[in-house]
Amino acid sequence: MFNKRTKIKEVLAQEPMSQEVTVMGWVRSFRNNQFIALNDGSTNNNLQVVAQLGKFNDELLKRITISASLKVIGTLVPSLGKGQKMDLNAATIEILGDSDAEKYPLQPKKHSLEFLREIAHLRFRTNTFGSVFRVRHSLAYAIHKFFNDKGFVYMHTPVITASDAEGAGEMFRVTTLPFDNPPRNEDGSINFKEDFFGRSTNLTVSGQLEGELGATAFGDIYTFGPTFRAENSNTARHLAEFWMIEPEMAFYDLEDNMNLAEEFIRYIIKYAMDNNREDLEFLAQRLADEEKQLPQDKRAEMGLIEKLEFVLHNNFERLTYTEAIDILKESNHNKKKKFQYPITGWGMDLQSEHERYLVEKHFKKPVILSNYPREIKAFYMRQNDDGKTVAAMDILAPGIGEIVGGSQREERLEKLLARMKEMNIPAEELWWYLDTRRFGTVPHAGFGLGFERMTQFVTGMTNIRDVIAFPRTPKSAEF
Ligand code: ATP
Ligand code: MN
Repeated sequence: MFNKRTKIKEVLAQEPMSQEVTVMGWVRSFRNNQFIALNDGSTNNNLQVVAQLGKFNDELLKRITISASLKVIGTLVPSLGKGQKMDLNAATIEILGDSDAEKYPLQPKKHSLEFLREIAHLRFRTNTFGSVFRVRHSLAYAIHKFFNDKGFVYMHTPVITASDAEGAGEMFRVTTLPFDNPPRNEDGSINFKEDFFGRSTNLTVSGQLEGELGATAFGDIYTFGPTFRAENSNTARHLAEFWMIEPEMAFYDLEDNMNLAEEFIRYIIKYAMDNNREDLEFLAQRLADEEKQLPQDKRAEMGLIEKLEFVLHNNFERLTYTEAIDILKESNHNKKKKFQYPITGWGMDLQSEHERYLVEKHFKKPVILSNYPREIKAFYMRQNDDGKTVAAMDILAPGIGEIVGGSQREERLEKLLARMKEMNIPAEELWWYLDTRRFGTVPHAGFGLGFERMTQFVTGMTNIRDVIAFPRTPKSAEF
């Protein structure tokens, strides 16, 4: 057996009492031919390995270069130097893999996030990305724990779908037809009957419709999987491939839905605060340093930890779309024509600048907007009695904008069919979806949380490309 190592995070938590430990990791730095800073990815804190002078031959010492991988067996002793509690006094050092320091792209200096995106295969080895991805992991774990503890069933909805009815975004086509000479119908259109699935298929934009099928049998389900949208917009909060969590609950109305979403967001933030304190403090410092370079009015009013604490201890502001439009319309910002898209009145779709004004300037906290005009929302949202709005809700977060989109679903077959007809959505294709309304329909609701946007919120990373391992965006699918 090769692996009886102790992770460095665990080593650093011990009291040094000359006990023997085996560690393995990568060299972050090597000073004075004697002090190795070793990192194994379990924490940003390095273990100082001491290679006593004269104990190891020059041949070996020369190979201890940045990012070389080592196996070290030694004894843990209190450190004589400042800056660390303990040293690992090396008895044996084995080079597992050499690293040519001249060619290694990560130098021991500060690299820009843009540069690190170009070497995304190595960026996990930096402190920033070490912290980001450990936090991302914790959030994913907390999500499963939250729903599991509440008795939700984790449902895997298909990645390849034939339904293009939801209209959540532009889709990627899935096909095995040849590009150069696809089979055609008499009228010249492509004959998808010849395609792999015998019909035209796409990568999913949302698992919601299938999720509703699960909820109307299990009661409560959630999905957590990849989602694809061919959004041809290069923003700091859109990816072409992102992960979404979509809970769907039978016997829930809009208010139940909002309550769950709020509880859920708080729970996962608290989980990260309790389990990733060190990483969050590192990220908070990183963000503070980054913000020092911004003009005063562009800086966040709260530090990262402060912001997360604030969210844990303050209710989200809840208001209707109609109330939000009034606030925006009357705002000085609008009167002074500072919005790129001026507030024209009731019925308009809110742009991200409006959402951010509400959360960052007006309320200074997360906001839940509800009851949007039916014309700007999807067909499945429950129609309110006023005939103008639907029981939709979006949660908006400071620095991010929309983080959750959800609604109570239209459970009344007649109303649903009428709305689909108005919106030219073919009922024949969604026969399976409509069956839930035919056989024991129930009030139900659900929402979608963008996992990367949530991770951005918790880590303070301003670009969504920096919270997913290998981002897919227009013109970019390296790695
Ligand atoms: P936006 O208006 O920001 O494009 P949306 O209205 O298209 O969002 P929904 O269809 O409601 O979003 O999707 C649910 C959630 O998925 C959003 O609240 C957001 O957190 C996330 N999301 C949507 N599109 C993307 C994307 N392209 N990249 C990353 N996350 C996304
Ligand atoms: Mn969108």
